[in-house]
Amino acid sequence: MPPVAGGCLRLPGVAAGCRWGEGGALVLQFFMPCGRFSGISLCPAGNSPVSHDALQASGFVTPLCCKSITFAQTADEMKSALYLYNTLTRKKELFEPLAPPFVGMYVCGPTVYSEAHLGHARPAVTFDVLYRYLMHLGYNVRYVRNITDVGHLENETDDTGEDKISRRARQEHLEPMEIVQKYMNSFHHAMEKLNTLPPSIEPRATGHIIEQQQLTEKLIGEGYAYEVNGSVYFDVEKYDGRHNYGILSGRVLEDMRANSRALEGQDEKRGQFDFALWKKAAPGHIMRWPSKWSDGFPGWHLECSVMSTKYLGETFDIHGGGMDLIFPHHECEIAQSTAAQGHQPVRYWVHNNMVTINGQKMARSLGNFITLEEMFSGSHKLLARAYSPMTIRFFMLQAQYRSTLDFSNEALLAASLGLQKLMNAEKTLAGLIPGGSSTADISGIAAKCHEAMSDDLNTPIAIAHLFDAVRIINLVNDGKEKLSAEDIRSLQELFRIFIHDLFGLRAEESAGNDRLEGVLKLLLDIRQEAKAKKEWAVSDRIRDRLSELGITVKDRKDGYDWEITA
Ligand SMILES: [Zn+2]
Repeated sequence: MPPVAGGCLRLPGVAAGCRWGEGGALVLQFFMPCGRFSGISLCPAGNSPVSHDALQASGFVTPLCCKSITFAQTADEMKSALYLYNTLTRKKELFEPLAPPFVGMYVCGPTVYSEAHLGHARPAVTFDVLYRYLMHLGYNVRYVRNITDVGHLENETDDTGEDKISRRARQEHLEPMEIVQKYMNSFHHAMEKLNTLPPSIEPRATGHIIEQQQLTEKLIGEGYAYEVNGSVYFDVEKYDGRHNYGILSGRVLEDMRANSRALEGQDEKRGQFDFALWKKAAPGHIMRWPSKWSDGFPGWHLECSVMSTKYLGETFDIHGGGMDLIFPHHECEIAQSTAAQGHQPVRYWVHNNMVTINGQKMARSLGNFITLEEMFSGSHKLLARAYSPMTIRFFMLQAQYRSTLDFSNEALLAASLGLQKLMNAEKTLAGLIPGGSSTADISGIAAKCHEAMSDDLNTPIAIAHLFDAVRIINLVNDGKEKLSAEDIRSLQELFRIFIHDLFGLRAEESAGNDRLEGVLKLLLDIRQEAKAKKEWAVSDRIRDRLSELGITVKDRKDGYDWEITA
């Protein structure tokens, strides 16, 4: 490992960063692949070259999860600016954390009352990539994603209907907490398959009932909430008089009033748009907690204000979620926190767009509601075949997170082939023979990839640049171009960072694949022998039949290559 002055450490499969600290010391930050540990350490001060051996000799580098350590980025690259689209200001803004190198990020997690579906996958993958990229840039990120296990009513805009979890518990004849456990496990299982890193903290609403009651009390005390018949509501009119209800969604209360009519069953509320902070439980309601107002349960919006403040502070850097949460959920979160604290809670609001299926919104009533397990097994009637978790992940990365994403069999098949091509190129790259000096120009590819990511996580552009590298790798493999050993190493590093560290893609070997590859190799070896004996009918037949099966065989001077092309 050559000593590199001012270099940055990169750990395989993890994000790590460095920056120059006080007195010229190199500050190193480690994030383990297990996602459980992160640390900041100092190596000997000064800008002198830092070698791998010297670091190990100092007892500094002993990560259990890491097999090797390499120098890759320069300190300047680490400082590359990240621009994020802020829903609050409606423009792309330079991301500047409140207290670097720390970043606090809160993302609204699932309400766990049914199987994880495609709609869950998009925010999970989007914010996983943001989490990974922030760590890659050297930030120490605390990523909080909640689990909603109470208070999410069926009609979420007007606080009516049954609690989604209670309802499911009744239908399945299970305890509400059995429902929560069952579907939380299913969500985690699907997230693991999609290779999303676990958040730093995953708080649950039922674990924060006392804090939610405290905030409700505070809001009553500040005059922004009122009690009626054991329920407590947030006074939107009053809030809007002093602040701006609609600051995030762009809605104007007056227009909302003009365009809607009062709904039945809302007599308790002073204003039509007031929302529940605490709801008195009806006699048969199972999920209930004692409070000074009534035996009841918290309103849905309250948990996120409470848990984000508890774990990230009164003001924190990033709040994420799907665009469908902008109103009323996030608008209400802002109102609650601003009313209680006197200032806004979040600096950057980041929202991912929705998923459609064959151009339609996904809904149970439309019969196009596809769970992730159905995707992975191909068991839904709209699916022509199974799509692997990495195909789904890669497909999502092929769109910028703020654009809509339409699922169709054609698009997923194309994503599957694209991913295969990328992964094949990485394998090919590992076996390339260096050719003295390079004839192909790879300079600039890495910078362009970073640039795309820094431009509001433009993953499709970064992927397009990776495919420039794929093209060069295949040309080199075909003997049409040459790459130096150094350039091969750079491309390997680029692929490792982008494909694995940032995009979170991993090779998928389904059970039995090794055996099938063995059979394929046997068949192709027989073909080689036939060719050597000039038995062209046999060799052509094998090639043609494989081609019909979507496996393309390419002859080379010293053997053959094959790839799955359809
Ligand atoms: Zn939320």
